[in-house]
Amino acid sequence: MRKVLYPGTFDPVTNGHIDIIQRACDLFDKVVVTVAINPTKTPLFSVKERIKFIADSVQDFPKVSVDSFDGLVVDHAKNIGAIGIIRGLRAMSDFEYEFQMALMNRKLAKKINTVFLMPHEKYTYLNSSIIRNLASFNSDVSDFVPPIVQEALKIKFRK
Ligand code: ADP
Repeated sequence: MRKVLYPGTFDPVTNGHIDIIQRACDLFDKVVVTVAINPTKTPLFSVKERIKFIADSVQDFPKVSVDSFDGLVVDHAKNIGAIGIIRGLRAMSDFEYEFQMALMNRKLAKKINTVFLMPHEKYTYLNSSIIRNLASFNSDVSDFVPPIVQEALKIKFRK
């Protein structure tokens, strides 16, 4: 059973994240998507809401489960018996930070490898903060996020 962990802030989950989850399902037996609790960030949506949005969006993916964690990603990976960590790479600008994290995580847990997956080109310019920004101006984000997120953003920014 080859299980992998896909950690992130997912504030909120976008179609780019879902694309990565789908690709991870093609490669592994089980994909655990985990919402990182980061005390230095002030997210728009609560952990509970972010989990709900992901769970709702992956209903048709039997290999996927969703949870959250507070602490080091590698510790969570070890605790759930994951063999690797999935991260998405959109552009060179992601690379330096992701490379550093991957090497540090490998230093902390030798056996846990980070696997980078590239989303479809149409998602390479997409990130959660752009979505939050667009939605705050009541812009249509239906091409970029699952329907449950679209609705939640509408409610959040309703004037
Ligand atoms: P984090 O704070 O951990 O970067 P994010 O939710 O922003 O949390 O991203 C989680 C992971 O998903 C990261 O590996 C990031 O590169 C990847 N990711 C974010 N947006 C996209 C996208 N549009 N396409 C593919 N991967 C993405």
